[in-house]
Amino acid sequence: MLMREERELVVEYGKKMSAARLSTGTSGNISIYDPETGRMAISPSGIDYFSTRPEDVVVADLEANIVEGSRKPSSEWALHALFYKRKPQIRAVVHTHSMYCTTFAVLGRPLRAVHYAIADAGAALVPCAPYYPFGSMELAEAAVRTAGAANAVLLGNHGLVACGADIAGAYSLAQGMEYVAELQYRALCVGTPNILSDEAMADVMERFRNYGQPGGGKTGY
Ligand code: 13P
Ligand code: ZN
Repeated sequence: MLMREERELVVEYGKKMSAARLSTGTSGNISIYDPETGRMAISPSGIDYFSTRPEDVVVADLEANIVEGSRKPSSEWALHALFYKRKPQIRAVVHTHSMYCTTFAVLGRPLRAVHYAIADAGAALVPCAPYYPFGSMELAEAAVRTAGAANAVLLGNHGLVACGADIAGAYSLAQGMEYVAELQYRALCVGTPNILSDEAMADVMERFRNYGQPGGGKTGY
């Protein structure tokens, strides 16, 4: 089986995403990219994460040619492919419809530096792309364009995209942005949150480079 390890990881993280309620039903999708072959392993469209088997995960190139798999790939294959094309350092993409991120996406409002943990996105602000229909090329273009240098972006009236150096990183970023979004929501419910300055955020990003165990390369909070 081509990309067996990646396909198993897509299944594993799909279950995690669903169990953590970062996605409901068959919403959201996950992919892992192998730059050596130019192929990604991407979750199949519309299959429950707990029913998905490694062979259901589709192996495709970045032009939507299916290399292996009998299932239809995620309707967001173009979104995943475009992130790999435009951000050559990333190896995994996680798309969720998590509640608090999507709440701000519905408002068309970015995630702000209400907590330093937003630095995991490599930016002091996670912007919100305008609404385009799911599965459209316009959505893929708008998401990548709006993300800019950030590794996470809200999709207007839709959800969140998080990119990572590996699937663990992309998933943890999706989880972290949901945490920041929930904090921002809760803080706005009772007052006006203090937003950390760009200088404070640049300092956090520098500190994140050495966070955790030596060689771990982990950012987080
Ligand atoms: P798929 O089931 O086709 O991956 O679609 C889910 C989704 O979130 C569309 O944006
Ligand atoms: Zn979606």
